[in-house]
Amino acid sequence: MNKKIWLSSPHMGGTEQRYVQEAFDTNWVAPLGPNVNGFEQDLETYLNQNVFVGALSSGTAAIHLGLIILGVKAGNEVICQSMTFSASANPIKYQCATPIFIDSEAETWNMCPKALEEAIIDRIAKGKKPKAIIPVHLYGMPFNAEAILEVANKYQIPVLEDSAEALGSTYKNQKCGTFGDIGVLSFNGNKIITTSGGGALVAKTREIKDKAVFFATQSRDNAPHYQHSEIGYNYRMSNIVAGIGRGQMEVLDKHIALRRAMHDFYLTYFKDIKGVKVFTEPNTDYFSNHWLTAILVNPEQTGGKTREDLRLALDSENIESRPLWKPMHLQPIFANDPYYGGTISETLFNNGLCLPSGSNLTNEDRDRIKLTLDKFFRE
Ligand SMILES: *Cc1c(COP(=O)(O)O)cnc(C)c1O
Repeated sequence: MNKKIWLSSPHMGGTEQRYVQEAFDTNWVAPLGPNVNGFEQDLETYLNQNVFVGALSSGTAAIHLGLIILGVKAGNEVICQSMTFSASANPIKYQCATPIFIDSEAETWNMCPKALEEAIIDRIAKGKKPKAIIPVHLYGMPFNAEAILEVANKYQIPVLEDSAEALGSTYKNQKCGTFGDIGVLSFNGNKIITTSGGGALVAKTREIKDKAVFFATQSRDNAPHYQHSEIGYNYRMSNIVAGIGRGQMEVLDKHIALRRAMHDFYLTYFKDIKGVKVFTEPNTDYFSNHWLTAILVNPEQTGGKTREDLRLALDSENIESRPLWKPMHLQPIFANDPYYGGTISETLFNNGLCLPSGSNLTNEDRDRIKLTLDKFFRE
């Protein structure tokens, strides 16, 4: 059997183990220490927007704490992009609040600003003003930050920006993760950089970062004994995995360039394949890290070949590919929650496929992918 080609797999730069070794050598084997502080500083410098970063155990934890800090409580409503990974929406349920799902726009595949405003107007008319908005930069593609923030500001609703897939992406030269009142990053195993598992909350003030770290470390009051006035969580990042993060930061921009080269490889390949469209930046305001390159397959123009046919053809050659995120409003678990918009995200889901996009793919891997695509589309 051929070696497996993954959609997106961890890609170490080489210095990660040095930082981890340092943690062992100095016995900082705990959810605090020099690597945690250093990784936070690296991220703050990289985001370059006067932000304060709190390193956490996962992106999901960052979304959960973000909602708590924004005051989301039982019975509240929170607006969320429908087309996303379920981790964007699950923390709304942790708070016993109701997600209000919004369709995508065709250009960015992210939250449609028009459907967002319709939803806000209708929810307010029904008697409940949404407490927060969670837009997502899907596959690294920035959402239309200008339009989304304009609606959010008009109705004075805070934005919790899910930038889990978009570290290094920019919109109008501003880094993703710095647009919302609170931003969220993820360092899970398949993301643009990884700490094996981890995440971060990006705050606009030191107070908010400190509050996040307070909640993440069991909400201990300032007392010699263990005293608690608020419910706490165990969400802080370990000093061991933060060492991996410090090493990964050294190669982040190099790995983004490699992902973008993978994207160019697909753009070139599909230029003359009828019925296949590569998802790419709508204009130069957008710069995607191209965490994953995705395509849309239109069976009416490919002689009936569907994205599922292609997925199976790649799979038979041991090449991983994956349908787009199934929209949340179509998920059994969220079936009873309100949804605003049309069928854009549903159509994207039906026709879209993510292709191998890792920064560690080799020329040999690309040759195998190309051969398999040739066999599928040209024979
Ligand atoms: C990965 C991801 C998350 C969750 O991050 P974890 O670190 O895996 O908890 C949230 N939202 C989106 C869009 C993601 O892709």
